[in-house]
Amino acid sequence: MDANSLWNEINSLLKDDFTPVSYRTWFDHVKPIKLDHNRLTLQLPSDLHVEYWQKNITSKVIEYAFQITGNDITPILVTENQVNDEKQEQAERQRNSPIEEKNNQLNPNYTFDKFVVGKPNMFAQAAALSVAEDPGTTYNPLLIYGGVGLGKTHLMQAIGNYMLEQDPTKNVVFITSEKFTNEFVSAVKKDAHGGSEMERFKEKYRNVDLLLVDDIQFFSSKDKTQEEFFHTFNDLHKDGKQIVMTSDRLPNEIAKLQDRLVSRFNWGLAVSIDEPDVATRTKILQSKAKYSNIAITDEALEYLAEKVDSNVRELESALSRVKAYSEFKGNRLRINTELVEDAMAGLDFSNKIERTVDINDILRKVASYYDVSVDDIKGKKRYKEIVAPRQVAMYLSRELTKTSLPKIGKAFGGKDHTTVIHAYDKIKRALDNNDPQLKDEVADLKTEILR
Ligand code: ADP
Ligand code: MG
Repeated sequence: MDANSLWNEINSLLKDDFTPVSYRTWFDHVKPIKLDHNRLTLQLPSDLHVEYWQKNITSKVIEYAFQITGNDITPILVTENQVNDEKQEQAERQRNSPIEEKNNQLNPNYTFDKFVVGKPNMFAQAAALSVAEDPGTTYNPLLIYGGVGLGKTHLMQAIGNYMLEQDPTKNVVFITSEKFTNEFVSAVKKDAHGGSEMERFKEKYRNVDLLLVDDIQFFSSKDKTQEEFFHTFNDLHKDGKQIVMTSDRLPNEIAKLQDRLVSRFNWGLAVSIDEPDVATRTKILQSKAKYSNIAITDEALEYLAEKVDSNVRELESALSRVKAYSEFKGNRLRINTELVEDAMAGLDFSNKIERTVDINDILRKVASYYDVSVDDIKGKKRYKEIVAPRQVAMYLSRELTKTSLPKIGKAFGGKDHTTVIHAYDKIKRALDNNDPQLKDEVADLKTEILR
């Protein structure tokens, strides 16, 4: 999505929140400039507009942008003069660096240098580094698994960046399992009309030195793709080429993943990344602040590390919100705890960062919605009337809380985390297949729980 279309969508939602006169005053001359790394730059006519926006509009924009994209978008408000300044700087930069950056699919920031090591990711980092130093020999394949936003993609790409730094002629391919699937399906389709796409597809993947496949849980149920990947895997492995994969769970926990793939994936090493503890969160924030030149006191960083206790991506977005807020305020000093507090409260970020949904609350509401008891949901009965609410409650716990799967299992009367995964997948699949009644129920319950 580009800045224009995002802004148009947000704008149409905002329209209903203001009287026509006030709408004209504050929105008529707003221009979307760019959308980059989840930062939406908007040009406003004057400083007065910027001030009014900060007080009354920014938090709505964040909320709507989140509704539309599912991402934390930080609005950056600039006035016309600032935009012109930046354009000039950019032109300057381009004049000074005529060589285009090499375009491979790796994010140049995802390096080992920038990966902060702490207890929860120490083992994964060590395994990744030894693979980078000695590809194709030590652990092949390497599988990094764990929850969202914990650094799996970063660590995997660090291996690629390391290899290219040692030898830029190496062929490193990074691909998500979804993209692999799409490429494969489209090649098959084209060949059905007499093309030779499959050949090209095979050539691309069988000629790599390092294959990075992100989020392999999405191979689930895709039989033909799994078969093709099986062959790719075997060819590369046989030639001593390194394969690295990430997943949100272990291969044997991925539903509908063929046994032969599971067994291949178990040839190497699987390492997990866990949620960062407060010490690691603090270290990560220190490092991010340093790399992005954000002047902030240690105390303020510690405060933020205490507050934002989920994953690394949330940490990053909290820090960039704080930075944006400090810029809005025209603050020229080191960002201190007070400013961080203001940033969270003033822009109404706090309820998004801190809104924690309690699993017990989910249990209560789901139970009463379906007219069963909480004890039944937590219990072991296998009647349909109880299993269905139980699965919905597990699904909602995973969707709405930051709780890990094992902890969810525990809250449901000590069930195994694979039971939670199974329930989650089942409900997700039904929703994806547009089960209309379930859709309504889940939507109702969400509203009820988030109220
Ligand atoms: P995942 O693939 O597990 O969902 P990502 O690799 O996309 O997570 O990480 C989310 C963000 O957090 C990225 O911007 C990444 O650079 C950052 N990140 C994660 N872990 C670390 C870490 N240990 N040190 C520094 N940055 C990290
Ligand atoms: Mg990822």
